[in-house]
Amino acid sequence: MKDSTHIGIIGAGITGLACAHILSSKYKVIIVARDLPGDLGTKWASPWGGAVFHPQATNSSVLRKMQSDSFAFYEKLAKENSTCGVQMYPMTEYFDTEGFDKDPWYKSLMPDYRVVPSSELPPGIVFGVKYTSLAINPLIFLPWLESRLLGRGVNFFRKEVSSLEEAKAITGSKLLINASGVGAKHLANDTSVHPIRGQTMFVKSDVERLFMLEGTEYTYIIPRPLSGGVIIGGVKSERLDTDVDASLKANILARVNRISKGAFANVDLEDVQDIVGFRPGRREGLRVERVGSVVHAYGAGGAGYIYSFGVAVRVWELVEGGGAGYIYSFGVAVRVWELVEGGEKDLRGKL
Ligand SMILES: Cc1cc2nc3c(=O)[nH]c(=O)nc-3n(C[C@H](O)[C@H](O)[C@H](O)COP(=O)(O)OP(=O)(O)OC[C@H]3O[C@@H](n4cnc5c(N)ncnc54)[C@H](O)[C@@H]3O)c2cc1C
Repeated sequence: MKDSTHIGIIGAGITGLACAHILSSKYKVIIVARDLPGDLGTKWASPWGGAVFHPQATNSSVLRKMQSDSFAFYEKLAKENSTCGVQMYPMTEYFDTEGFDKDPWYKSLMPDYRVVPSSELPPGIVFGVKYTSLAINPLIFLPWLESRLLGRGVNFFRKEVSSLEEAKAITGSKLLINASGVGAKHLANDTSVHPIRGQTMFVKSDVERLFMLEGTEYTYIIPRPLSGGVIIGGVKSERLDTDVDASLKANILARVNRISKGAFANVDLEDVQDIVGFRPGRREGLRVERVGSVVHAYGAGGAGYIYSFGVAVRVWELVEGGGAGYIYSFGVAVRVWELVEGGEKDLRGKL
């Protein structure tokens, strides 16, 4: 039986939906958002993510735990559901400069992790690893998750709110999750929040491998599940316009050809789908913090999918723990999974 507590969530991006997924196993959840799954505006980030699970380097055990929880969730989905837009792929990760961790924390997280022998590295690459990871197609996964949440009784309400109090009033909740992405700049009065522009291309292709290049230029190839193509990128910039930069397109194509031995040599740049989107950056990094009756969950920058379900587990604990004496423990994460799994069993027939 559901707890009678109502929880409101601002935001229907991947962070808000992931929080709703975990919280709705126990609570009545109401989401209020300006943009909802299926919308394609550039005021929110989630439709435009790559979206690859590329583990993030960090010394924080909490951030590592969130990534691990998230990976476990997506991996399970990919293995059990072939239509939700999440799929496993082999990953090759290259570095073309020194100064990075050659013994990363995620070597124990990612299946099949191994170092590429130096004799097999392409010219200009100083280090490389391979492992199995996954990619998410947001245009399939967000609506899929939304329909699942609707089946669980989560309510969606489209509205742009001007304050956290307004969101509380609309959702009739005493406890609010603020998953408003860039919107948190205004709603949480957080001046360290800022949009980070990305430009990528969707290209028809049968490449079924993930590639990442880090160092001088951040470059990637991300198969897009169930689409017949890949996302190639990338760039990060402080520009705020949505115009497609034609010179960047040629530059991205040259870079992806370099790391894929020319797999995209025949691509016609006139015949690709351009994507411009804005990541919800935060100079102080991801914020998952309870302040009174509000749990803030925003600022994942270019890693919102990577953190999503791990953020949701941590939000759950902040909700349950009341914000005091909070310890992020493995035991709690296991309990959360049990609750979610229990709920899923009842839902399976309805999906
Ligand atoms: C080009 C590009 C490539 C990317 N690649 C990857 C990748 O490979 N892997 C990865 O993990 N991440 C990637 N990202 C980042 C990822 O897409 C974001 O981190 C993630 O989508 C953020 O989700 P969110 O739910 O926190 O915010 P958003 O998706 O921005 O959602 C915010 C929600 O809050 C709502 N909202 C905001 N203000 C208000 C208001 N005042 N009133 C009501 N509602 C409001 C919005 O309508 C929306 O529903 C990429 C992003 C871009 C742009």
